[in-house]
Amino acid sequence: SDTLGSLGKSRAKFISAEETTGVTFDDFAGQEYIKLELQEIVRILKNDKEFQDKGIYCPKGVLLHGPPGTGKTLLAKAIAGEAGLPFFAANGTDFVEMFVGVAAARVKDLFSSARSYAPSIIFIDEIDAIGSKRGGPDIGGGGAEREQGLLQILTEMDGFKESTSQILVIGATNRLDILDPALLRKGRFDKIIRVGLPTKDGRLAILQVHARNKYFRSEMEKNVLLQEVAELTEDFTGAELQNILNEAGILTARKDQDYIGREELLEALERQKGTFQTGQEDSEEMPEELKLRLAYREAAVAVLACFYPDSHCPFVETDIRSIRSKPNMRYTKVSGKPFLRKSDYVNSIVRACAPRVIEEEIFGIDNLCWISAKATSEASTSAERLILQTGMTAFGKAYYRNQSDLVLHLAAKLEALRHEYMRFSVEKCSSVLREYRSAVETITDVLLEKGEIKAKEIWDIYRKAPRIPQPPVHPVDEYGALIYAGRWGNHGVSLPGRVTFAPGYVGFSTF
Ligand code: ADP
Repeated sequence: SDTLGSLGKSRAKFISAEETTGVTFDDFAGQEYIKLELQEIVRILKNDKEFQDKGIYCPKGVLLHGPPGTGKTLLAKAIAGEAGLPFFAANGTDFVEMFVGVAAARVKDLFSSARSYAPSIIFIDEIDAIGSKRGGPDIGGGGAEREQGLLQILTEMDGFKESTSQILVIGATNRLDILDPALLRKGRFDKIIRVGLPTKDGRLAILQVHARNKYFRSEMEKNVLLQEVAELTEDFTGAELQNILNEAGILTARKDQDYIGREELLEALERQKGTFQTGQEDSEEMPEELKLRLAYREAAVAVLACFYPDSHCPFVETDIRSIRSKPNMRYTKVSGKPFLRKSDYVNSIVRACAPRVIEEEIFGIDNLCWISAKATSEASTSAERLILQTGMTAFGKAYYRNQSDLVLHLAAKLEALRHEYMRFSVEKCSSVLREYRSAVETITDVLLEKGEIKAKEIWDIYRKAPRIPQPPVHPVDEYGALIYAGRWGNHGVSLPGRVTFAPGYVGFSTF
């Protein structure tokens, strides 16, 4: 194999470069869905040409976000290792120095080093140090300097064209909320992956990975012991779990024993707890993944509730303490008779799409679960009600009391219109959630940390969050929907829903 010359000892001190990281996805355990997503990227990176022929391009930037020690660096290295590409790493804090021009120059250096070994991977840890919001409060000084560096990153990322997109930039942060939205725009870090705390099963899997090079009396004893540790380590990160095993190994050696036993493991666990506080107050058993899904669901519902506020029914608070198929968001009681316009009905459909849309966005279309089902069926029923019972749509001015009023061709027309309203609602909802992605993540973080969030804090986060501009959403096209439904103009009237009915007329018998 060809050596990469100076790569090992890069010219610039702040860049660490590796020809091969030697890390694979097997080294990362728990949160299998993250690996599935990244595996796809590796496949695209490897068969660049084949995918390009099909018009599939690798994302230019992947942003990993989550608490320290959860394996973000490990994942970045695994991508490089699996794809067999050289790995260039730098830390965002290294870019920001007192001297003017250093940040931009270092960014340039990093990209040009990576480019000369392309295809390659760039990893920028703590990217928030350089990529925080522009124009915000200048904490720690160096604002102008940072801005130069950030602009340089944007320039570099926009610079490589699709045909020569041989550099994948991976960023890591635990402060998604302060990132400049420009970084998250399409063609930059447009793939955001949350790396969270492992579940109990995840913890066991991580312990298994780090127990590979450790000695236990037997395979069976090892499994029993690790299972026990996994149960006792709620809220521990992968790095902390690794520490426990290393510490247990050291204690074992100190006692001049050959095998790690229960006593050493528990002692190591206690030591780890002493250095890292853990939230033990949470005694109820809820799988971590479900908790994460609930938090995202509630965050999405909250953002939509801010975007389309309902003055008749203001929201109060939400939490992730109970698992129900309906969102947990609580509202104050409606007083008086609400005055609803068509847009109020439509907005409520858009809001009801939030659980399903966010779940697909975060976990993928093949990885949905039941917690968005209720809201989705509500959205669909509301659309039907709007069409059938309000007379506000192209369906007509007739009022249909129940389904049995519907003859077959009207059912087709209803379906076409409902389809159109749902299409619009889902698109609008995704557009809002993408625009406010940062607010969604921040609210999710608060929920995961505290278990609940009040309206005031939600509004606060929503108002301050950086927004990522989205293309406009095609409005409901009722005319198009009718054309799609079939021939409706057999009386020479092209828009039957809008024909003027004689007073007292009910129904569609003219068709
Ligand atoms: P981060 O970049 O998120 O702060 P790191 O990738 O530096 O975390 O994690 C530190 C170490 O902890 C890793 O090198 C690895 O040994 C261990 N670790 C963390 N998460 C995992 C995991 N999910 N599976 C296996 N090991 C892990």
